[in-house]
Amino acid sequence: MLSTPSNLVETLSNIVGSRYVSDDINIRLAYARDASPEPPRICDVVVRPASTEEVAEIVKAANRFKVPIIVRGGGANLVGLPPGSGGITIDMTRMINVVEVDETSMSVTAQTGINWSLLTYELKKKGYRTPFYGPFSGGAATIGGGISNASAGLGSARYGTVADILLGLEVVLPMGDVIRTGSGANPYARKFARWGFGPDMTGLFVGDQGVFGVKTEATLKIMPWPDEQTFGSYTFQDLEKACRAIYEVQLKHIPTNIILLEPDFNRLFGKAGFRGLENVPFSVHLHIEGYTKEEVEKLKATADDIMKKNGGQEVPPDFPSWNFLRPWEWQPRTGPLGQAWITACYKVPILDYPDHRVLWYRVLDKYKEKMKEKKIDFYVASLVVENALDPMNVIYWFDEDEEAREWVRRIWRDLIENEIKHGAIHYWLGKVIGERVAKNYTGPYFDFLRTIKRSLDPNNILNPGLLLL
Ligand SMILES: Cc1cc2nc3c(=O)[nH]c(=O)nc-3n(C[C@H](O)[C@H](O)[C@H](O)COP(=O)(O)OP(=O)(O)OC[C@H]3O[C@@H](n4cnc5c(N)ncnc54)[C@H](O)[C@@H]3O)c2cc1C
Repeated sequence: MLSTPSNLVETLSNIVGSRYVSDDINIRLAYARDASPEPPRICDVVVRPASTEEVAEIVKAANRFKVPIIVRGGGANLVGLPPGSGGITIDMTRMINVVEVDETSMSVTAQTGINWSLLTYELKKKGYRTPFYGPFSGGAATIGGGISNASAGLGSARYGTVADILLGLEVVLPMGDVIRTGSGANPYARKFARWGFGPDMTGLFVGDQGVFGVKTEATLKIMPWPDEQTFGSYTFQDLEKACRAIYEVQLKHIPTNIILLEPDFNRLFGKAGFRGLENVPFSVHLHIEGYTKEEVEKLKATADDIMKKNGGQEVPPDFPSWNFLRPWEWQPRTGPLGQAWITACYKVPILDYPDHRVLWYRVLDKYKEKMKEKKIDFYVASLVVENALDPMNVIYWFDEDEEAREWVRRIWRDLIENEIKHGAIHYWLGKVIGERVAKNYTGPYFDFLRTIKRSLDPNNILNPGLLLL
């Protein structure tokens, strides 16, 4: 039998205290969307737990009432909430404690509702940082959201994604049991090793979009804060050569961050006063870190040789120093003219990118007239994630024009479907990308995921419908 919101509210209030439960429509509306142009999904009640025990009790109650749970970190997703309506939204952002900085095992354990910028701030006080240090949305986005999305972003050229710095998790399973993964599963061990008893159970929850459990604590690698840094910017006439230069730099794992800008972004930043960018097709921007001046200069010299050998012309590094010195201060939720935007990040091998991107323009060709009429723009910048390029094909539109928004949702879906068929590996999937990815994976693989979901979550409580599960 379905619960009524009122007895749900009472049950949840008994778990977390009435101050942290609300069925007020204004509050529910505030949680009804992520950062995508998808229509709202309105829950019955919002609850804000402070501890793992409270999360476990909420999950058990949801099973008793048979109501869905929508897990929410910073709400900075760009892909839409799970399909349907109603249920409980668990807001994780009261769970922001740094539980332990374990210098012996070079790790930090934190509650998963902490955002990346706060975690970085807390670690810096002790002279540390995580090697991957968050998505570009990390001023709001939480580590729980990042792990659920297998986020890439800051530090990804050198250190990979959040998956690569993860040593273990504490997870509330969909029926309410609490487990620890990695060496933390052994009550006598420190949380320092990802593998221990059996296969990589941490990996099961990375990129799961929150369908397999609610992550309550995460243990991440730390490194000493890199005090020295330098930047480099290079313009290229030719995309193949720019990609070859990036590829060669990546073989040596030199920069912490690399961004490739394409003509529209170069023009935009050039106009904004970033020297050397205004009239160039492609530009590559490097952020190099280290512990001594000599070390970073040496790394920069090696990168410089590679860039120039491939036809790069050095220009002042205005863009990367602005972009990487305070990454969370400027992250725009609007386009250059105040537009809304959407994108679909994904990974392709670096050297495949020039051929790969042709597909977007084939797709966009179909919408050329409409895009002009509705003032819909398309800009491209790419991030480097170890051996892959992560293109951000950004669509801008004026959101007050509802028809423009609907066209964008259509174009965006068309691009995603084509990207998947051209070998793209998306990682923040949510509703819009998740259902498209799920349809394109092979039957046995999808059945395998469905078997896991059914055995962990027989009542289909957690983020139901995501990944078509
Ligand atoms: C300006 C901007 C820049 C962005 N840049 C990047 C980027 O550089 N890299 C990148 O990867 N993404 C980026 N994104 C997309 C998105 O913000 C990130 O993927 C981010 O990691 C989402 O974290 P969040 O806490 O906001 O998660 P939410 O949006 O709250 O949730 C994301 C998913 O994770 C689930 N979830 C959240 N917390 C938990 C938990 N504790 N346990 C289980 N499931 C959970 C949710 O149910 C949902 O399915 C960007 C978005 C914006 C708006």
